[in-house]
Amino acid sequence: MASLSLRNICKSYPNGFHAVKDFNLDVKEGEFIIFVGPSGCGKSTTLRMIAGLEDISSGELWIDNQLANFVEPKNRDLSMVFQNYALYPHMTVYDNMAFSLKVRKIDKKEIERRVKEAAKILEIEHLLERKPAALSGGQKQRVAIGSVIVRQPKAYLMDEPLSNLDAKLRTQMRVELAKIHERLHATIIYVTHDQVEAMTLGSRIVVMKEGKIQQIDAPAQLYQKPINKFVAGFIGSPAMNFIEAEVEQRKGGVYLAFYGQQVKLGVHEGRRLIEKGYLGKKLVLGIRPEDLHEQDEKGRGDSYIILSVQVRELLGAEVLLHGNIEDVQISAKMPSDCKIQAGEPVRLYLDMSRIHLFDGETEEAIWYD
Ligand code: ATP
Repeated sequence: MASLSLRNICKSYPNGFHAVKDFNLDVKEGEFIIFVGPSGCGKSTTLRMIAGLEDISSGELWIDNQLANFVEPKNRDLSMVFQNYALYPHMTVYDNMAFSLKVRKIDKKEIERRVKEAAKILEIEHLLERKPAALSGGQKQRVAIGSVIVRQPKAYLMDEPLSNLDAKLRTQMRVELAKIHERLHATIIYVTHDQVEAMTLGSRIVVMKEGKIQQIDAPAQLYQKPINKFVAGFIGSPAMNFIEAEVEQRKGGVYLAFYGQQVKLGVHEGRRLIEKGYLGKKLVLGIRPEDLHEQDEKGRGDSYIILSVQVRELLGAEVLLHGNIEDVQISAKMPSDCKIQAGEPVRLYLDMSRIHLFDGETEEAIWYD
């Protein structure tokens, strides 16, 4: 398996549009890297440049310490799995998986060995003699992945490979992919829109916006310490709540005030904000839906918001409450036995150890530790 290095990679199209801007990333051997970001942010373009399907406008791509910008796609030894997997309908599963090896004139015995090994990993040994028409969506996708595994590439590039599957199959295949990664110790770069895929599969996640990397980090780190408001709002579902607030100092301490409400900051956090010059300034308070609670669990009576609940959604294991403070939409995630109904104003306590603060102008995270 390979390591890859992308250095100052840019992509501009003939119409002058800059799709990828100064992209820097070192992928270690065996890493599972995820690209996420809103539609059009340059994820697929970056992946296609690595594959060699798109020219690199400037910057360097290194594969295993070899400059690869001008290496033909077929000689890069990378395999790509797309959303729309194409199987040859007239061939059996075995022949579909063996096809690329036959084209390369690989020895018949070796082909058999590789196909059987891949089929075992993917648990499709019993399907080898079937034609694609007799397979389910998930089985077809396994065969498509199998035909890539047999090539034994240096790295796998996957562009939303599961997005055509229904929710149940998607979950199954996600687990399969995690196992395959583990077993093959494969280097994988994976584009997805799916939060759960990103959080569960990634060794590291690259969050992109408008062609630029916002943050590269391990999933837990991204969730706990987003570098700016964009990343904070993008990672996590339902998304983090944001409330514009003003920093006020009163007798009892430092408060964040908004729409006639207020929450009291801890002594340390309050002092750091004052030191950083935020007194009287606007900033953005971020709180995740799961960090709002009906009970004041930490016994800090002055850290709550009053929310007018408009919608209550029972999701089985949990209840989502959606409401607002003035025109700010707020969501809260409660346990399934939560009795709060729509139409009531409720008091919800913030877990102040898990709030996020962002500069009102730059939207960068304010660190106060
Ligand atoms: P999605 O999640 O929707 O697939 P993406 O993040 O993968 O989005 P890309 O497909 O990489 O986005 O596209 C990045 C940007 O480049 C988009 O705004 C797209 O419109 C633009 N783009 C792609 N191809 C061209 C082209 N040939 N000429 C001009 N702009 C292009």
